[in-house]
Amino acid sequence: MRAVVVGAGLGGLLAACALAERGFRVRVHESLPYPGGRFTNLEFRGFQLSTGALHMIPHGRRGPLAEMLAELGAGVEIFRSEPQAVFRIGGRDYGVDEVYSAFSTGEKLRAMKLLAMMKLGRARAGEESYAEWLERHLRSELVMRLADAFTGWCLSLRAHQVPAAEVLAQVENLARLGETGVPDGGCRGVVDALVEVLESNGGELRVRSRVLGVSGTSWSFRVHTGEGAEEAEVVVCNAGLHRSAELAEGVLPPEYVRMLRGVESVPGVKISVACDEPVLGHSGVVFTPDAERVCGMNEVTNAVPELAPPGKHLLMAHAAPAGGDLRREAEIALRDLHRLIPDFRKRCRVLAVQTYRGEWPVNHAPSGTHIPPETPAGGLYLVGDGVKPRGWMETDGIAMGVREMLEHLSRALEESSV
Ligand SMILES: Cc1cc2nc3c(=O)[nH]c(=O)nc-3n(C[C@H](O)[C@H](O)[C@H](O)COP(=O)(O)OP(=O)(O)OC[C@H]3O[C@@H](n4cnc5c(N)ncnc54)[C@H](O)[C@@H]3O)c2cc1C
Repeated sequence: MRAVVVGAGLGGLLAACALAERGFRVRVHESLPYPGGRFTNLEFRGFQLSTGALHMIPHGRRGPLAEMLAELGAGVEIFRSEPQAVFRIGGRDYGVDEVYSAFSTGEKLRAMKLLAMMKLGRARAGEESYAEWLERHLRSELVMRLADAFTGWCLSLRAHQVPAAEVLAQVENLARLGETGVPDGGCRGVVDALVEVLESNGGELRVRSRVLGVSGTSWSFRVHTGEGAEEAEVVVCNAGLHRSAELAEGVLPPEYVRMLRGVESVPGVKISVACDEPVLGHSGVVFTPDAERVCGMNEVTNAVPELAPPGKHLLMAHAAPAGGDLRREAEIALRDLHRLIPDFRKRCRVLAVQTYRGEWPVNHAPSGTHIPPETPAGGLYLVGDGVKPRGWMETDGIAMGVREMLEHLSRALEESSV
């Protein structure tokens, strides 16, 4: 069977490799001159900046992305971050287990109990947001700031913008899998390995090739590009929810197209900084609950030195915006960095400030929005960060979405005579 994948982002490449391995004739169209979408490197002054991600995989070597890469034979080493995370409060870094010492005695006991319940998957939530849920259980200003930094870093949303049930499911997965990691070569290390697997299984990647539309009916599609039209039984769209709706408008019911168009993407700001010495000193996340916009920082060159010129370090900070003017949000985030890092001016040099929104966002759907990969048109699937199952974040969520898509496709093929 023929499969066409629209977009060579992480979801598109994972799906393409898996389909090629299952014997599909796969062609991937990517409109940009390079594969990887928001998960690849951008070289700048010898530093490996990125098109999106902060060179980190949330569940590291033990998560769904690592598992899928191994299954596909994509040999990428993922280095475990040690420590996984610390919290910078009042200028001091607290380990995950030490953070309780920043609480009052009453807060400490309640916070410890609640976190234990969350990690064991025994905490329950109704329809409320994570902020409302915490307010109901703890009512602590510090806990709220920690929660905002956590969701801001992982999801680019503040605690009041995410359903509590989603965060509880994510914390349970984090507690179970328990690590964060940095891939060798950064984001691009993963993408290069996937392209190699795709091509070694007979799949084809066409860059600078924009898909203009998809027509036809279930299991019998025509994919239109500047080069003409090609036929495929299966089409996998990795182009984001809005663009997928636009491309496949003719083959999808209008109410479904309206639903996809109604999902709002999640904005963010990333600041990449060059340092002459390690400023954080490890490859884990430094959550920053004291800051106005910056939610966390990392320094991945402590795990993969090649991401910076010899002897230098690359520090990245992520900010979840509070308003729509991203230029202003970036200015506030830059002010944060001057406060968070002692002697910032002497030790650091800002390399790039990147803003994300619209069709190039942090996420195509806010966490807690669950759109299944299958569409009403048989054989037409969605993958990418608009399609993440409950409880899974970032690239590990994308891998879980691709797995769901593959399971659905196998069932559909078994049940039908396609
Ligand atoms: C600032 C920031 C920080 C992040 N940090 C992390 C992190 O540390 N860890 C982590 O795991 N995740 C992180 N993420 C999230 C992660 O980068 C994204 O979720 C992931 O890269 C998205 O992959 P995707 O499969 O949705 O594809 P995308 O990256 O959206 O790629 C889709 C591709 O489709 C192409 N395309 C679109 N339309 C067409 C068309 N008509 N024809 C052909 N091609 C088309 C696009 O050019 C693009 O290359 C971060 C994101 C951002 C922005």
